[in-house]
Parts: sequence; C-alpha cells; structure tokens
Amino acid sequence: MHYVSTRATSASAARNPQQFSDILLGGLAPDGGLYLPAEYPQVTGAELDAWRKLSYAELAYEILRKFATDIPDADLKTLTARTYTPEVYRNARADESSADITPLRVLEDGVQGKLVLQALSNGPTLAFKDMAMQLLGNLFEYALARNDDELNIFGATSGDTGSAAEYAMRGKRGVRVFMLSPHKKMSAFQTAQMFSLQDPNIFNIAVEGVFDDCQDLVKAVSNDLEFKARQKIGTVNSINWARVVAQVVYYFRGYLAATTSNDQKVSFTVPSGNFGNICAGHIARMMGLPIDKLVAATNENDVLDEFFRTGVYRVRKPAETFHTSSPSMDISKASNFERFVYELVGRDAERTHALFRKVDTHGGFDLSGAPGSDGDEFKDVAKFGFLSGRSTHLDRLATIRDVADDFGITIDTHTADGIKVAREHMQPGVPMIVLETALAAKFNETILEALGQDAERPAGFEDIESLPQRFVVMPADVVRMKAYIAEHTGL
Ligand SMILES: *Cc1c(COP(=O)(O)O)cnc(C)c1O
Repeated sequence: MHYVSTRATSASAARNPQQFSDILLGGLAPDGGLYLPAEYPQVTGAELDAWRKLSYAELAYEILRKFATDIPDADLKTLTARTYTPEVYRNARADESSADITPLRVLEDGVQGKLVLQALSNGPTLAFKDMAMQLLGNLFEYALARNDDELNIFGATSGDTGSAAEYAMRGKRGVRVFMLSPHKKMSAFQTAQMFSLQDPNIFNIAVEGVFDDCQDLVKAVSNDLEFKARQKIGTVNSINWARVVAQVVYYFRGYLAATTSNDQKVSFTVPSGNFGNICAGHIARMMGLPIDKLVAATNENDVLDEFFRTGVYRVRKPAETFHTSSPSMDISKASNFERFVYELVGRDAERTHALFRKVDTHGGFDLSGAPGSDGDEFKDVAKFGFLSGRSTHLDRLATIRDVADDFGITIDTHTADGIKVAREHMQPGVPMIVLETALAAKFNETILEALGQDAERPAGFEDIESLPQRFVVMPADVVRMKAYIAEHTGL
C-alpha cells in the first residue's frame, strides 16, 4: 500500500512512493496536498461476515493492517489492543458497555425509519477525537522508538483537539506536547481537563489573547523551518492521515452492530466541521462497506451544507465565522474536504490543485455546472452518497429537549445538530446512525439553557475544576514562545 498526494502529478508520485510510516508523523504533503492511498483496499462479504464476531480492537487491527502494510502485523495487533480497551472508554453511560467501545442505542424504530445513536464519546476527554488520537499516541511512541527519535507536538486549541491530544500523548516516551490556548477563554470544565494533567511531557501554555493569536503563534513558529527542524516540531491536526484512518473503524463497527446480513444498508449522519470524521465514512464506503447515505450536519457555519446543496464551495472569512454553541464545528473552511474533491474530479491531481489554488485566490470554487462555473462534477456527488443539512442554536435547544423527553438521555450540542439533520433524511428500511461526538457534560452552559438543569458528569469528573492545575501564562510573543520551547526540549 502506498500513498499519494491529492496534488501530485503521477510522475512525482512514482518518484516518491510513501508508506504509512513515512506519512505518520507529518501533515501536508510537500506540494501542499493531502495524502490518500493510491487506491482503496476493498473488503469482501466473507471478511465482513467474519468481522461481525470481532471485538472493537480486533476489528481495528483488521482494518488498519490494510492501510499500514509496513508495520508488522504482530506490532499492529499489540498497538490496537492497547488502544481500544474498556479501561480507556470507561465513560460509557450506566446502561452502556464500555467493552463495546462505541455502543449503539436505538432511539426510535417507527414508520419514518430507525434512528440509532453510536457513542464515540466515551474516551478520556468525552469527545470523539479520542477515538483516533489515542491510537496516534501509541503509534507515535512505537514509530519514534523504532527510529530512536523524538517529537515535539506544537498546537493551538480552543477545547476539544488540544485535550484529546494531551490525553493521548501523556506519558508517551519520545513525545512532548506544547499546547497553546487563549488565557481564560475556555470553559472551566475544558480548562480543568487540560490543566489538571501533571505529566512532565505536557506543557499547557495560556496565551494572553484570543484563539486566533494562538493560531498565529503556531504559524509563526512553523514558518521558521530551521527552528522547526531543530526542535523536531510536529502537529496532530485533523488532516493527519492516521487520524482519518483510525476513524474508518467505527463506521465498520456501527454497520456490523446495526445489521445481521451484508445485504442490509445503513446511513450515517455526522456532525461535521473539518470533514475529518465524515471523510472516514466516505473511505469506508469506498472500501465496499454497504453505506447508503452519508449526511453531513453543520451548524450555522454551513460551508459544507452549502456545497452539498449547490456545488459551490465558498470558504468564510474569520469575521464571517460564527461562535456557536456547537463550537467544535465552528470552521471557516473544511481542511479535509480536498480528500473528497480529489475523488469527485476523478483523482485528477492537477485539477484538484487548480481548484484549491482558486480557494486561495478567490475564496472558493463552483462545480455546479452553471455558466461560468469551474466544472459540473456536482452532478456526481450523489454517487458518493453525500447529503447534508444545517442546524441552528434554536434547533439544538429544541433537539436536546426532545431527546431528553422522548428517550431519557441528555445529548451534547454537536450530537443535537446531528439528530436534527438526520431526521430530515430518514428512510424506512435503512437504519440512520447518528454519531454522538461528545458527551453533554462538556457543553453544560447550553444544556442548562435547554433543560434548566446541569448535564450529568461521568464518574471521576464531578470535581474536576478543583484539581490542582499546571500551566504557564505567556504574552502572544513569538520570540518568548520559541525560547520556552527550546528551554524545555533541550534541543
Ligand atoms: C471535532 C468535532 C466535530 C467535527 O469533526 P470534524 O472531523 O472536524 O468534521 C464534531 N463534534 C465534536 C464534539 C468535535 O469535537
């Protein structure tokens, strides 16, 4: 199995065949594109039948070995077994089994169809990013030990990504995490989750500024290529291929758990921001998993919904990006979207490159086929099963209330966006699985607004705000940031 960039000419791809381990620690390809397998591995009906009996960890092993062909099977088996254990996913609800890792719950089974929730939110930080990041932590440690190397992860967070990265990398040999967050701008719960970590390889840096200041600092440091190389700086953002591929597993798991035979199909609705999660669903479908529809649910930041309704991809300016009550979906552009567009234009890298150059110069592109547009491939979107919908703050409040009244569980704001949109696309005979991407306790302010009472907290989180916190406060100053990193890496 080798990997190509979405922007690589076939000549350059042939010159630089990349294997899984080569792209594991990196982000963008050198040409600015994203990595994808040269072709998707396929699953057979016989494999699917055999996989129905597997544990989540065994299933993850079977799927990952199709992509990580340069890691010995025995090592991959150890890594997946260590990652997907009930001890890591112990935040399951009282009536769920943490051994299932991503338990399914049928919400309704009526004339409109079957609505199912798949909990991806039972990991250490109560959000689905744990599903992939936990594997990444173990893969990084393994790869770094193999090369006797080290890695310093440098990133900015406004909440979910940073904490998932820290919980995945804590205590890992060869890895340090330097995570910037805007000082006093995160919720008390999210701050406590990150800052209460006492591991010596985790460095929480509260920047005097807003999230954009943090991101600017990361960019400024990353643009200093000499510093970046000497300090062995890397990232774990959502375009990382290993993160995407780890997410493919729970689509298989959801399908196998919701069906009894491979003649059946299911659809998925995915609360979407950077298109990482639903891109994994698209990959599962391309591998031959019988997925009918893939529904992207957005909040008021509806870049993706706009594309899947009209064929126009129009990124937003920072000032046009709304701060919503489903904040992990507040994006101005969908950083993994290029992986799908490449497929949509028939794996034409030159075309993909031109379209994304136009994103940089003109803020987007238009594949609607209208006069003056950049192409007519929008007509082919249906072949890939994609649909979409949009949800607002009022929809979230109403959906959280309805789900609490009708099914007796409290869902978080992102999952509420998913359920609201899923209901618009249900079909009798095809179960609709909504991915639960976070637990409600993380977004309590909105739960209180919707229900007039606090969200339940999983055991161990009752008093998290009172734990001792370990962090430094720093001005938004690149020179001081670099000095701090160098001092703590010793490189
Ligand atoms: C990150 C995140 C999302 C969006 O996922 P993408 O892969 O960026 O589309 C949705 N919900 C929650 C809770 C998240 O943390």
